[in-house]
Amino acid sequence: MNPCILNILCLMVCIFSQVRGRVHYGYGRGKEHWGYHGEGNYDPEDWSEEYKSCGGKMQSPINIDTCDTIWDHFDHFSFHHYKQTPVHIENNGHTLKLEVDYRNHPRIKGGGLEGIYDFANLHFHWGSNSSLGSEHSIDGKFYPMEAHLVHYKSEYKDVDTAVLHPDGLAVLSVLFEVTPKDNKFLAPILKSLNKVEKAQTDEDITSSVPLRALLPRNHNKYFRYSGSLTTPTCNEAVIWTVFTTPVHISEEQLEMFRRLRTLNDSIPLTDNFRPLQEVNSRRIYRVERELELKNAIGAKIGYGGQGVDH
Ligand SMILES: [Zn+2]
Repeated sequence: MNPCILNILCLMVCIFSQVRGRVHYGYGRGKEHWGYHGEGNYDPEDWSEEYKSCGGKMQSPINIDTCDTIWDHFDHFSFHHYKQTPVHIENNGHTLKLEVDYRNHPRIKGGGLEGIYDFANLHFHWGSNSSLGSEHSIDGKFYPMEAHLVHYKSEYKDVDTAVLHPDGLAVLSVLFEVTPKDNKFLAPILKSLNKVEKAQTDEDITSSVPLRALLPRNHNKYFRYSGSLTTPTCNEAVIWTVFTTPVHISEEQLEMFRRLRTLNDSIPLTDNFRPLQEVNSRRIYRVERELELKNAIGAKIGYGGQGVDH
């Protein structure tokens, strides 16, 4: 069977099983703000009642159907001050957020981005079990966790200004897959998790882990599309880079994330991902510099080089 048709069938099954598998806790009016499972006034399907942009046509996250991607060629990403280590950790009730000392601002350029983007924060989305957790899916496959490294275009001065512009933010998305071994680079961060178990708690940390250690080794394979913040106010201001190569994490390490609590202490901070949004007329670009090279060599020696791994 054509692999693209298989993908479509798989996607339908995945979406169906996800919808069936999610528990809707309902929500009580009178609580504050938004949430995922009743810990706020508005669950994701209702966000657009309060936050108009959440009902837009260029929302995130999306499923990336690899059969429907367009090859593109971008310059290499370059990462500056990515040796910086997180110095502050916060459970804000929606996610675990890490910040750095901004005197030496980490920043990125290249990778098809126009201009320089300054680092704002790193945060995570994860599941109550390892069959779900990521916001984006690739060919219908979800991952147990997804990290977002949020950057804003330096000419816009800060995130609040940047979200008012379609090219305001560049978010790097890192997918995680489970392996038996711990991810040693996460360990120093996880050491502080018990101090921020309750929502709206934060802690200064002395982590020895540079930001760059949290990125996948291969920065040259990724998907690119224009979308939105995945939390209210859902501004359509994000240039998304979803790295194709996952990094690893152990079940034990995921369990530490799952112990965190939301603002409603009886509701665990898990499944803090927004459901998939429609792609609509957007184009999704695919960059794989190694594959481009292989294909070029393959063409010379007479094989197609069509085998794509991701
Ligand atoms: Zn996020």
